[in-house]
Formats: sequence, structure tokens, C-alpha cells
Amino acid sequence: MRLSWRRSSRVEDRFEKWIVQQHQRRVLAGETTPSGPCPDEAFLQALTRRSKTIALSDPRIDHAATCPSCMNRLLALRQERHTSRRTLAWAFAGAACIILVVGFVAWSRYESQKQQTLAQTQPIPETVDLWNAATYRGQQPGQLQAVLLPAARVHLTIILPRFSVAGQYLVAVTRDQNGNGVVGEGTAATVASGAQQKISVDLDLQSVKTGAYFLSTTHEQDQTAYYYPLQIK
Ligand SMILES: [Zn+2]
Repeated sequence: MRLSWRRSSRVEDRFEKWIVQQHQRRVLAGETTPSGPCPDEAFLQALTRRSKTIALSDPRIDHAATCPSCMNRLLALRQERHTSRRTLAWAFAGAACIILVVGFVAWSRYESQKQQTLAQTQPIPETVDLWNAATYRGQQPGQLQAVLLPAARVHLTIILPRFSVAGQYLVAVTRDQNGNGVVGEGTAATVASGAQQKISVDLDLQSVKTGAYFLSTTHEQDQTAYYYPLQIK
């Protein structure tokens, strides 16, 4: 019982040390953005001393834990204190403790920002219904109603034209209707939905300039490509 407690505590220590190291590395590499001005030397010294006069909610702690120059100074101050044997344990534990707490705060903020960024770049679901497009085959594609897609990451579901064959399809966004200038593509197998065949692909159109393009579908075996006019807005 005691043995397993000790072991898990050691694992926790290693994890905490790793978090602190990761945080320090990011700060020293300038990957964090400190808010507010640098606090004075006395504050950093007090922070290293783990002074009880400093509240953990003090915004200067947040700054010191995200500012490369303050972090360097804190590490130097901590090093200085290391030379004093009498206060060695307190200094290390104090600085590590504060850096750890703020590190956790900064880390969780960084994680939540990352989550937000991820959420912003979630593919936008779009559906293109080509079910009745079959009747237009052989005519100029310009006569079809143009499909509109945003310049973003798109999760595109295409309802294939009536009588389309099941199987694997290549879906591409091209500059012309000869398949030149591919700006996005993906492959997917058809999924039957009643009489309809649907395919879903993720297209990354984030860096595509707005304008006129073509959406093409090519069946992997028959290799005939069908082009539909597409506007990227
Ligand atoms: Zn600073």
C-alpha cells in the first residue's frame, strides 16, 4: 500500500517537473505573451523567496511566469539562493511552487486557447445536391446553377447525379474544366441513401482565393470526370 503510494507520488513529481520544464522552455523560447510591464527586482526577489506578502492572484506573477526576461531573472535569483545552503530547500520549493501554480494556469489557458483555435478551424459542413444535374450532362456546365463554397475547411457532402454508379470517387476543385489547377481534393466511397448515392470529403479551401472554379467528380474505374461550376466566396 505504502509502496504504491510512494511510486505514484514519484510519478507525480516527475510529471510536475516536466510541466515546469515545458513551461520554462516555452517562456524562454519567447512562445508566450506576457501581459503588463516587468515588475521590479524587489518583487522578483520576493517571488523567489516565496514571500507570503505576494498573493497568487497578483497579475505580476502571471507576467513573471510568461516573460522570458523575468523568467531568466527568476532562474538566476533561484540559482543565487541555491548557493545559500540554509535557505536552499525553501528557495527551490518556493520558486518551483509558484512557477508550477502559474505554469498550470498558463498551461490550461494555452490549452483552452488551442481548443478555441481548433473549434474555429472545424470543417464547415456543406452539401451540394447534384441529383438533378444528370439531365444537364452534355450541355455547357455554365448553364448549371453554380455551387457556392466558402474559402475554409469544408466537410463536403455531394449527392451524386441520378443514376451515378456506386464506388470510390475523386472529388476535386479545379481552376478549369480540364482538371488543371487543382486547389483541393479528396477521395471517398459512396454511401447509398435511398435511391441516392452520397460522398463526403474534407476539402481544405482556406488558402483558395475567391472566384470561379469547377467541382469535379471522377469515378475511380470509369475515370470520366464531371465538372460543375463552383464559386468560392
Ligand atoms: Zn518581464
